[in-house]
Amino acid sequence: MNKAVLHDHLDGGLRASTAKELAIKDNYLPLINVDDIESFFNRESSESLEDYLEAFVHTTALMNSYENLERIAFEAAEDMHNEGITHYESRYAPLYSVNSSLTPKDVIDAINSGFRQAEELYGIKSGLILCGMRNDINNVKQVSEIAIDYKEKIIGFDIAGPELNYLPSLFSDEFNKLIENNVNLTIHAGEGDGVNSIQEALDNGAKRIGHGVRIIEDIDLERGLFGPTATYIYENNIPLEICITSNIHTNMYSDYKEHPIKNLLELNFAVTINTDNRLMSNTNISKEITIAEKLDIKNAEKILEDSASYSFLNNI
Ligand SMILES: [Zn+2]
Repeated sequence: MNKAVLHDHLDGGLRASTAKELAIKDNYLPLINVDDIESFFNRESSESLEDYLEAFVHTTALMNSYENLERIAFEAAEDMHNEGITHYESRYAPLYSVNSSLTPKDVIDAINSGFRQAEELYGIKSGLILCGMRNDINNVKQVSEIAIDYKEKIIGFDIAGPELNYLPSLFSDEFNKLIENNVNLTIHAGEGDGVNSIQEALDNGAKRIGHGVRIIEDIDLERGLFGPTATYIYENNIPLEICITSNIHTNMYSDYKEHPIKNLLELNFAVTINTDNRLMSNTNISKEITIAEKLDIKNAEKILEDSASYSFLNNI
């Protein structure tokens, strides 16, 4: 059976041990003297989003050469394979890695080379979704152009970064051009902002919604009534890329029991279970499945099979 992870950030999933090794190799001072590298990166009990995000400064700093990117991509796919995943969608904001010796094409080629090595060894299929950073319009513009230039080498486009105050409609021109070029869109929405943001993601052509959990705010659970956005998502079977642990760690919900995943499954939404940032959230897909089971979700493994049917890897 095919099983997929659809929402996982490459810079949020380095092995801690690899980060340490690369820091020593590249003489990256902030990590060299860190004794316990795993707890350094573990931001499970972050009190602020800033503290959570600070960890990415150090992972992206190490994603600055072809060989590092290739290794990081290979290991991400290998780790997914070791948990039974057959289809792995990884996402990354490529401009973090572009420098005087790495072009955008090099960044994409390095990551794909790592994925290809994992496929040759294990058979796992992996693909790259490029992320524009929504708090920087020029970044989104540039990455959308890169996505179109190299559309044969990638499987989709997304906007990441702070959702609040950066609605999808700010980038409508870019999304329209991407759609004209048949680039698949998934958009982070309904995490840091509410139903309005999800509606805008749909209006701008998102085939899937990154997180999307706040669609629950468009549903009257007691009376079983759906608002217009929830109705659209339901009727069109738009997959929600749900990342339970990540939502707890960014303080969206105070406790796992508060998370709406079970309600959404009971209402027959197209729910998928994902990891988001394995390193900072100290998680992996097996842990996420265990959490789902603890929330009394039956047949949680089957959700990974459903995810495979929604994968952008199917239409390349
Ligand atoms: Zn994400």
